[in-house]
Amino acid sequence: MTYLEQRRKFIEDGRPLKEKKKYSIPKKSAKRIEKEKSSSVVKEKENLEMWFKDIQMKHFTEFGGSCMECGSHIPLKYARHSTAHLLPKKLFKSVACHPLNFLVLGAGCGCHALTDRVDKFVGMKIWPEAAKRLKTIIPLLPFDELKYLSGQLMTALENT
Ligand SMILES: [Zn+2]
Repeated sequence: MTYLEQRRKFIEDGRPLKEKKKYSIPKKSAKRIEKEKSSSVVKEKENLEMWFKDIQMKHFTEFGGSCMECGSHIPLKYARHSTAHLLPKKLFKSVACHPLNFLVLGAGCGCHALTDRVDKFVGMKIWPEAAKRLKTIIPLLPFDELKYLSGQLMTALENT
């Protein structure tokens, strides 16, 4: 219907008044919604803590662990620093705590930093394992997170 047709119909219908929206008391108070939101943030943090701890338990002893790329020793106190998310936790919230969404890579040996660039990452020894993990995780992503996947990464995965 064009605007004029709409207008004519409106007049022909006797210019009905718009129905007023009834105000209804929200089932949950704003305060409550806020509280629930903050508790879910706390839960997310707790889950992430557990995720880091699990990885630490599996990949580190009291003496430390080793870089998955070059085998360099990583002191236990750097366990968390050296646990790198494959898909960044900030963008890919749904898989932030996925048991395969990580690699243990040293900061001291420089391997950790190499994963920041796809062109460097694909040249690493650990890339095939990273690609395998990514191929497991990516199909689990919700629609609204797919936009964060870079074309470069997807191409690299297709070629692996
Ligand atoms: Zn290394």
